[in-house]
Amino acid sequence: MREPARGADLFLRRGRLWPGTELVDISVRDGVIEGLGAAGEARLRPTQDATVIDAAGLSVIPGLVDVHVHFRDPGLAWKEGWERGSAGALHGGVTSVVEVQNNPPLSTDLGALTERIEHVRASSRVDYGCLANLLPDSLEHLLAMAPTTPAFKCFLGGSTGMAGQGDRVVLRELFAGAARAGRMIVAHCEDEALLKAGAAAHPHATVSEHHLVRSSEAEVESVRMALELAEETGVELHVFHVSTAAAADLIRTARTAGQTVSASTAPHYVLLSCADAPGLGNRIKVNPSVKTPQDAAGVLAALADGTIDAIGTDHAPHPFEHKDRPYAKAPSGMPSIDLLWPLTLELVRRGLLDAETALTSVTERAAESLHLPGKGCLEAGCDGDLVLFDPDEKRTVEGANLPSTSKWSAYEGWSLAGFPRTVVRRGEVVFDAGQVTGQAGGQPLRLPCPKPVGQDAARSG
Ligand SMILES: [Zn+2]
Repeated sequence: MREPARGADLFLRRGRLWPGTELVDISVRDGVIEGLGAAGEARLRPTQDATVIDAAGLSVIPGLVDVHVHFRDPGLAWKEGWERGSAGALHGGVTSVVEVQNNPPLSTDLGALTERIEHVRASSRVDYGCLANLLPDSLEHLLAMAPTTPAFKCFLGGSTGMAGQGDRVVLRELFAGAARAGRMIVAHCEDEALLKAGAAAHPHATVSEHHLVRSSEAEVESVRMALELAEETGVELHVFHVSTAAAADLIRTARTAGQTVSASTAPHYVLLSCADAPGLGNRIKVNPSVKTPQDAAGVLAALADGTIDAIGTDHAPHPFEHKDRPYAKAPSGMPSIDLLWPLTLELVRRGLLDAETALTSVTERAAESLHLPGKGCLEAGCDGDLVLFDPDEKRTVEGANLPSTSKWSAYEGWSLAGFPRTVVRRGEVVFDAGQVTGQAGGQPLRLPCPKPVGQDAARSG
């Protein structure tokens, strides 16, 4: 029996397979890539119902997978919501997102998680995975939630709207629970005690001291503990938004020793540094803080050698009036999903990252790092998610004109290239000539079966 169609038929002619120069045709059938071959190859033909796109002169890449976003919906939809957030995603070339709920209602049991997913279905223009929250309250519900979530989100350090879990004994229980449930943990790593110490040591801090208030040591010690607890409990770990060279070094050592750990960073940790704080003000206030230029170089090196798998935005919408408050009162986080592909391409244009690494860090390796099958690739059997862009066409960033809600950007005035011209989600054109097209239509990401580990898992069968 055929599976129900995941999408539409589409035939793309003569796309340049970036970063190479080969011209290819891509055939998508029922939303899934049927084949990719040299342009004009006789075996690839459009079906009768296919939308045919002539991509001559444009480059083609897979739809981007953003491993870390906040759309604040349900609960704080006025800050953005899925409709605007996912429109921003398409503008940045993103066709799949993994979303973290860090405002109430949290996803601490299956009922709440299912309700959230149903809520998202009505308004998302991109495919989505909703992370469940890993908290003492959710411990007894992890097994039930595991099949419905890509991973459990654990805040070791507190951040916007979420208290951190600083207690090692509690954390160990949470890590063991996730192991038994068979889903990986994605972790916000900053050590609670060191965050408190940093704040106490800088009582009159401005944003220029944010990297001292939320210090390198806080991230490094927390990553160290997360790696130890993951090793002890057997749970698979993904460290979100790595911001320091030293934390990247710890992850490299763990990977070399054979531990199953993956990691991601965000564009602001490699394109900005704490030296930009005086000019950007609270726009650069994010958690973990943006560190030194040497840290940015270390994180880039870790991307290049495969220690860090992915670049996710940690897109965190806030109205500018809130960011414009005094440092201590301004919320942390910045929007950037509208710019993910142009910012990633900027790393290549500046010679900071090779093209293949940059591309896979927002596509194939991003998907693999969170075990999302069929996403971020252009092979037969993958979802027909495509982005067409002109790598030479530059545009100046104007926050006010971006589709997501915040209307400000830390990259205001930057001249970037690679703004998507056309975005295809499972064979359907969902963004064209700067505008979203059609209805919502996003679907939940397909997820592999949970794989319980540990003695308790074996006991419970
Ligand atoms: Zn986040």
